Amino acid sequence: MQEAPVSGLVIRVTGGEVRVRVGSEMVVCSLRGRFRVKQKDLQLVAGDRVTILREAVTGAATGAAPGVATIETAAKRVSWLSRYVDREGKTRAVVANIDRLFVVTAMAEPPIRLAFLDRVLASAEWGHVPACVVFNKSDLAKGDELKRFTALYQACGYEVVATCATKGKGLDTLAPLIVPDGIYAFVGESGVGKTSLVNRLDPSLDLNVGDIGERTGRGRHTTSYSQLFPFRGGYMADTPGMQTFSFPGNDAGELAACFSDFVAVDTECRFNPCTHTHEPGCAVKAARDAGTVAASRYASYVGILAEINLRAKRKPW
Ligand code: GDP
Ligand code: ZN
Repeated sequence: MQEAPVSGLVIRVTGGEVRVRVGSEMVVCSLRGRFRVKQKDLQLVAGDRVTILREAVTGAATGAAPGVATIETAAKRVSWLSRYVDREGKTRAVVANIDRLFVVTAMAEPPIRLAFLDRVLASAEWGHVPACVVFNKSDLAKGDELKRFTALYQACGYEVVATCATKGKGLDTLAPLIVPDGIYAFVGESGVGKTSLVNRLDPSLDLNVGDIGERTGRGRHTTSYSQLFPFRGGYMADTPGMQTFSFPGNDAGELAACFSDFVAVDTECRFNPCTHTHEPGCAVKAARDAGTVAASRYASYVGILAEINLRAKRKPW
């Protein structure tokens, strides 16, 4: 006998086993059955919303294991954080349905790297993930750079919050952005203060330094799947391998579409499509020269594009 399908949230996927949260219960589902046949191209990840089917528990009478649960359907994703995996030569989703990605940058220690920030932001755009730029270690900012960087990213359409995790500054601005049932992730280079921020936001997590985003698939941590943890009434996703990840898209057009400051001007380029590199009459380059597109943003774009082009050359076909 089978029960009616119920909906749930994928917490973790490992091999053929999917952990699904249904209400307050965690149900271990197998990937066999109809779903596997019908949606075999879809790789379920943490954050996916699914319906599952459970067989009524008959184990008590027979002494067999209690009823098996299977995934029936997966809902269309609202957003997805993905990365290009070099070794596989393809793009893979890491977490689905993130409500807000906090991209953490330190004003110093480690030195600020806008190229990293821009790469994460572009990758978030690619999967429709709303991103919030967090400038942590505001106590270490020099001169007016915090003001300048804030203005730059606000002009690109991002929410920007300045914080000092050690003194708790800016947390009152960050906290209301996290609402119950939402899915959140913190990405940033090692040492920027992700763990400190998250511990301040939800002391019950009690993470150790280096717990977030450090599972690179090498060394101590060897897992490559993501999972969701309870966080302020919602969920926090860890994002293994996102320290050094590659832009998920495949060409200049996809990349430029993820730079919102380019999108405002690129309809004026003489050539269409335009890669905004060597073409004459390029409006994006003109905007960079005029200062309306930041030189750092343009440099980030060129850097990621070079990487995409290299990737295409390396492909065996
Ligand atoms: P993670 O690797 O991104 O998780 O970074 P951590 O949270 O482990 O922080 C790295 C180091 O930066 C620790 O020594 C923290 O105490 C320190 N730190 C974190 N936030 C701040 C801040 O706002 N200001 C200063 N000066 N140090 C901070
Ligand atoms: Zn152009």
